[in-house]
Amino acid sequence: MQHFTKAEIRQINDYYDDLKKDIHPKFTKDKLAMVDKAFKFANAAHNGVKRKSGEPYIIHPIAVAKIVTHDMGLGATSAISAILHDVVEDTDFTVRDIKNMFNKKIANIVDGLTKLSGDFDSRQAMTLKKMLMTLSDDVRVILIKIADRLHNMRTLDAMPPHKQVKIAGETLYLYAPLSHRLGLYSIKNELEDLSLKYKHPEEYNQILYRLHDQESKRNFLVDEFIQPIKERLEDEKIESTINGRLKSKFSIWEKMQKKGVTFDEVYDILAIRIVFTPKPKVSEKRQCFDILSLITDIYTPKPDRIRDWITTPKANGYESLHVTVMGPQGKWVEVQIRTQRMEQIAEYGFAAHYKYKGAASIEQELEKWLEHIREVLQSPDSDAFEFLDEFKLNLFSSEIIIFSPKGEMFNLPKSSTVLDFAYEIHTDLGNKCIGAKINQKLVPASHVLNSGDQIEILTAENQEPKIEWLKFVTTAKAKSKIKNAFKLEKRKHISKGKKIIEQALKKVNMPPTADALKRITGYFNLSNKDQLYSQVGMGFIEVDDLNKMLKKKAENILIRYWKLTFSRKKKEGEEDKSNIDQKKPYILKEKKEQTSYSLAKCCNPIPGDDVIGYISSNDHILIHKKECPKAEIFLTSHGEKIVTAKWTNFKKLSYLTKLKLSGFDRIGVVNEVTTVISKLHNINMRTIKFDTHDGIFEGELYIYVHNSGDLQNLIGKLEKIKGIDKIARVEDLNE
Ligand code: MN
Repeated sequence: MQHFTKAEIRQINDYYDDLKKDIHPKFTKDKLAMVDKAFKFANAAHNGVKRKSGEPYIIHPIAVAKIVTHDMGLGATSAISAILHDVVEDTDFTVRDIKNMFNKKIANIVDGLTKLSGDFDSRQAMTLKKMLMTLSDDVRVILIKIADRLHNMRTLDAMPPHKQVKIAGETLYLYAPLSHRLGLYSIKNELEDLSLKYKHPEEYNQILYRLHDQESKRNFLVDEFIQPIKERLEDEKIESTINGRLKSKFSIWEKMQKKGVTFDEVYDILAIRIVFTPKPKVSEKRQCFDILSLITDIYTPKPDRIRDWITTPKANGYESLHVTVMGPQGKWVEVQIRTQRMEQIAEYGFAAHYKYKGAASIEQELEKWLEHIREVLQSPDSDAFEFLDEFKLNLFSSEIIIFSPKGEMFNLPKSSTVLDFAYEIHTDLGNKCIGAKINQKLVPASHVLNSGDQIEILTAENQEPKIEWLKFVTTAKAKSKIKNAFKLEKRKHISKGKKIIEQALKKVNMPPTADALKRITGYFNLSNKDQLYSQVGMGFIEVDDLNKMLKKKAENILIRYWKLTFSRKKKEGEEDKSNIDQKKPYILKEKKEQTSYSLAKCCNPIPGDDVIGYISSNDHILIHKKECPKAEIFLTSHGEKIVTAKWTNFKKLSYLTKLKLSGFDRIGVVNEVTTVISKLHNINMRTIKFDTHDGIFEGELYIYVHNSGDLQNLIGKLEKIKGIDKIARVEDLNE
């Protein structure tokens, strides 16, 4: 192993001193000692190793730690993990060693970073997705990874050109958007500019040259614009700094590419930022708007160009008030107004926030932030690259601004369509949307919106939601509303079909028993009765066909009953021994009199169900549900022992019955189910069991009810709970 020269050792110490200077006022003594220990350990571990640039390797982790503490405002755990981040990957030490020397948290972070290292290929994308998805308490892995990448980009010169292009590409594809999403704007800008430098060196140099060339002219324009504002702010005793904001080289380049415009056209737009110290007791928002009104006293604002990110901050925490005004040279100038706190968040990410709240709330703030990022990283299952694309798309959500005809402002994700906007405003507007007028031009509902569009939704009374719509809407809101509309529509068809079928059954004097329905369903080759109802409701099954079919069925049933009566008469002698009069319906009373009856275990009828009685002995009757398969067998083979049965009003005794529920897993579903049951005084719950997998829940409910009316009432109420899709009564309690 080679050793470092004195000059190299001095260089290492310089870097480390620089880091110490940054963390000294922020960290406690204990933590500083830990950082020191980490440095000594990593320094020894990387001893003699050099980077491609020829510098001692340890300089890299130190620089990463500095980015982590200085630019991201993170604490000691992150700093130490950053210092150690390449130890496991590049030396013989293991994660276990780190755990033993430091702690579990740090070891976990280093482990995560080690797994994330190496080239970015498909396997890597998988790993990355896993990492992102399983992020529990350590978003710090990603933050340090970004810092690592930033330092690698800053020192990319030492790499061979083909690697430069590859690394720059990755940075642009993944790390810059990630930084943007995490609110690390200045890091994002730097990553983008550096990527441009290596991906398109010529264009980068040209922009650099032009910026330099125009600098003095620009400064003059900025000063001219700022001066009157400065004076007014001083009059109002508002402490502030005003700067001409330079667009990043990358954003200039991107605009030139995307809009096909020249450097001058992009560069022409001045942007100014006012950062002020808010006065206590008055809300920051109010003070921002006060400054806004002070500026519009001087310069005319562009109508509809006020963007209020204070009332509704961007998803990554960004807050600011933007306005575009007409400057002295007849040019539009964008002005951003924000407090120092907002500026910190905008430049250094949400983590910077805690600087203003003191050390006590660091953990709390970080926790909130983590929670937020976890939300951001939620995404349905998909393959790794698809995930990344989706993730990237989501990164830029809430990025276009759309205006209603009245000038109300709406925030929508990029690539939102006319229909997304319609649903954003109102469900009915979406359901009836046939297209829109954008800047006086007619466009279809699928038209993709651009930021700044003023749009008027066109509707038609006879319009209905279409399933194809799901293909082009992008917002979750529109998607769920379209799906809901279909569910509602389906429910309408079902209840319409149910009525038609019940009427048809009445015509042939058949009760709408489950058995009858099962037969009809089978006849039309359908799998369940809801399908039957909706097919009839939608008119796919003609009412005529239904009537014909039922007429035939009814005749068959008559024949069967006739046979039953016939066979019964044959055995009249036997029947006399029974105390039960088969000619009359057997009345089921809550209080059992002379003859006793019991409820069959196979189908568990409850009072109110359609039932028949089976005379099992002289004075005992077994009650089955009519649709019970056993009852069917009895009807055909032991017709002589069958008696019709009727319930009286049951109010005291309770019967155990079982329901199966399924639907979409939603927080609070179980709670709502139990609340519904507990509010019904005539129903008691015995057990409830819920299982969830892949966003679907399945529940089993054992309840005591008095009769089927109460049960129907309960089912009706449960059906109304959001997320519940199916409720079925289960006959066999042991199933
Ligand atoms: Mn590294």
